[in-house]
Amino acid sequence: MKQLDIDNFNQKVAKKADANRQLVQDLRKRKKKIDGVFHASHYEVFEEMDCLTCANCCKTTGPLFLDSDIERLSKVLKMKPAIFIQEYLRIDEEGDHVLQSTPCAFLGHDNKCIVYEDRPKACREYPHTNRKNMHQILKLTEKNALICPAVDKIFDAIRIKLG
Ligand code: SF4
Ligand code: SF4
Repeated sequence: MKQLDIDNFNQKVAKKADANRQLVQDLRKRKKKIDGVFHASHYEVFEEMDCLTCANCCKTTGPLFLDSDIERLSKVLKMKPAIFIQEYLRIDEEGDHVLQSTPCAFLGHDNKCIVYEDRPKACREYPHTNRKNMHQILKLTEKNALICPAVDKIFDAIRIKLG
C-alpha cells in the first residue's frame, strides 16, 4: 500500500488555495443547493480512497470530544472520565474538549485507530462532506481541503461538475 507523501500533498494543495477560495465563493452563491454535488462527489472519492494510506486527519488535527465520547472512551480504557480528560484532552478557545497534542494518542503505527469501534463522533463523520446543509460548513471544508486528500479530490470533482 503506497502511503501518502505528505510533503508532496502539502505543496500541491498550497498551490490550489486560491482556486479553492474561488470555488467556495461560487458554492456560497448557490446557497442551499449544493448538498447533491457534495454528496455525489464524496461517495465517488471515498469509493477509491484508502484512509489507511493516509491518516493525515489523525496526525495533524483532531476531533472534538463530546461528553458522550469521553464517557464511552474512558469506559473502554477503564479510566475515570476525569483521568481520561487529564491524560489526553484540553479545552480549546471555543470551550470544547480537544486533543492535547497530535498525532492522536490513539493512532497506531499502521495508521489504524486503536479505539476505532468507540472513536469520537467527529472522527466517524470526518471530513463531513456527506452531511446535510453543506453551505453551513464551507469555510471548514475549505480548511479541510488542506488536510484531507479526499476533500481535495472532492473539490476537484465539484469543479469539473460545475464546469
Ligand atoms: S479522512 Fe481524509 S485525511 Fe483522514 S485518513 Fe481519510 S483521506 Fe486522509
Ligand atoms: S480517535 Fe482514532 S480516528 Fe479519531 S483522531 Fe484519534 S486515531 Fe484518528
